[in-house]
Amino acid sequence: LAKTGSRNCFQFYVASVDQEMRERKRLEKDLAGALDKAQFHLVYQPQISLENGRIIGAEALLRWEHPERGLVPPDLFIPLAELSGSIVDIGRWVLDQACHQAAQWASEGMPMRIAVNLSAVQLRQHDIVETVLETLERHQLPANRLELEVTETTVMTNLEDAIAKLHRFKRKGIQIAVDDFGTGYSSLTYLKRMPVQHLKIDKQFVRDLLINEEDTRIANTIIDLGKSLNLSVIAEGVETPEQEHYLRQRGCQLAQGYFFSKPLQSQEFESFVVKFHDKMIENNA
Ligand code: C2E
Ligand code: MG
Ligand code: MG
Ligand code: MG
Repeated sequence: LAKTGSRNCFQFYVASVDQEMRERKRLEKDLAGALDKAQFHLVYQPQISLENGRIIGAEALLRWEHPERGLVPPDLFIPLAELSGSIVDIGRWVLDQACHQAAQWASEGMPMRIAVNLSAVQLRQHDIVETVLETLERHQLPANRLELEVTETTVMTNLEDAIAKLHRFKRKGIQIAVDDFGTGYSSLTYLKRMPVQHLKIDKQFVRDLLINEEDTRIANTIIDLGKSLNLSVIAEGVETPEQEHYLRQRGCQLAQGYFFSKPLQSQEFESFVVKFHDKMIENNA
């Protein structure tokens, strides 16, 4: 009986792996056509200065509206797009949209810095620097309004080439942030060599801030590291007033998270900025 049981179990396993493979192939195929079918859009999550309470910019986050499945999370489709290489075209579109939006906001008297996530595959493209500069030029967006978010792993997997490109971005005035800091495998030696201006504390350390002592210590360490290396620190995934208060009094300069706002459509973002700053003026009056 045990034997039959395990065999059934094995067959079940094979069937589900097979099913999963088919699902994945299907998703990959749909993803390949998604750009042409205009199924992508960006949402913008406000980034707030904890020093003066103002919104200084936004992180652009990609959304894929699948005709049958609805919204597919980026954590699911970005890795597929990286494998197939379609992230190069998709990433170029993201950059274009984000710069267009930032230029639009600036022309409406609402200058914002825009942060765009850059995949390792994109950074490996030989013409990535030219692509970024050309996009800024096309939208007449000053370079210091753009921030590129790279992870430690993105830089480490292609170290010399990546560092050289980050230097070229920096020389042009584009800002670089290390995303998900603390989750990758870089060392202080490499961090010292990376021409970056910002560290983003990964949300996994912020989630249990003040509840889990280790997470609190890790967050403190990143904030102190930022001070030592003269980098500004931004906390992601801030959800509660307690987290916001702690980070602010601990000297973390910037924050983003559901406590302030979820990622918003562009028009929602505009009204959020207006309301947020009106409220701030009221509170100060
Ligand atoms: P990320 O760059 O670290 O972005 C932060 C993620 O945290 C976003 O998830 C955001 O919606 C989510 N988040 C923001 N505030 C909170 C909060 O208070 N609590 C919690 N639990 N989560 C919060 P999202 O939008 O699902 O994106 C996931 C990841 O997908 C991003 O992580 C980034 O690595 C990648 N991604 C998104 N857009 C792009 C893109 O345009 N290009 C590339 N290459 N990657 C992207
Ligand atoms: Mg990011
Ligand atoms: Mg992050
Ligand atoms: Mg992340």
